[in-house]
Amino acid sequence: MTTPADEPKAAVEAGQRRVIVCYAWCEPCQWGQCYDKPTPHGWAGSEDIEHARAMGQPEPTGNCACPCATTGDA
Ligand SMILES: [Zn+2]
Ligand SMILES: [Zn+2]
Repeated sequence: MTTPADEPKAAVEAGQRRVIVCYAWCEPCQWGQCYDKPTPHGWAGSEDIEHARAMGQPEPTGNCACPCATTGDA
């Protein structure tokens, strides 16, 4: 079970953030192009960041929710 650092665990357990957790995978991971070695990385691609900028929102900085984005037992 992996929880992005910026998602409150209680909210995830309440099932209210499930869509957002799903969404918070970077594009390569969504397409199955995972890192061979677990490598912490954000989910936001350059398009996401530019979209947020265009909408006047803060740049997305959350970590990718994919298992390959965690260092496991680190
Ligand atoms: Zn990823
Ligand atoms: Zn991945």
